Amino acid sequence: MYRFSRSIYRELARDILEDKPGQWGPSNHERVLRACEACVYRLATDWHYFARPTKTLFNDIRIYFPMSSQERVYRVVDRYMTFAKDYFSSMPMSGYDIEGKRIECRATTRRGTPCQRTPLPQNGYCPSHQHLAEPDEIAIAA
Ligand SMILES: [Zn+2]
Repeated sequence: MYRFSRSIYRELARDILEDKPGQWGPSNHERVLRACEACVYRLATDWHYFARPTKTLFNDIRIYFPMSSQERVYRVVDRYMTFAKDYFSSMPMSGYDIEGKRIECRATTRRGTPCQRTPLPQNGYCPSHQHLAEPDEIAIAA
């Protein structure tokens, strides 16, 4: 999955600002790459709850780019985030996430325990909890 973050980074790398002399900690290049990785990771593991990946990543990295590149950076981020989200959300449900953890329905049962049925890929709810999904998610599932 890190091919997404590396591709974003590669497209953005030439515009990243020079490190300030005496700057402490990781270089700007490393910060941008780490931010891309964190965002792609979150998208891969938790895309149901990750509402605005483009905005999140763009806000995390925009300070490392000059004003003149902001628009291009946003477009690159948006292109990859949209693609990555489509990719992760269309992956066949194996019942396990990319870390090997079991994926379970997002709902809580009437007894207050997490529902343990395998969810549908479109919205993360099992067939008996489809009524809890957001309306637009149901539209996509239909
Ligand atoms: Zn359920």
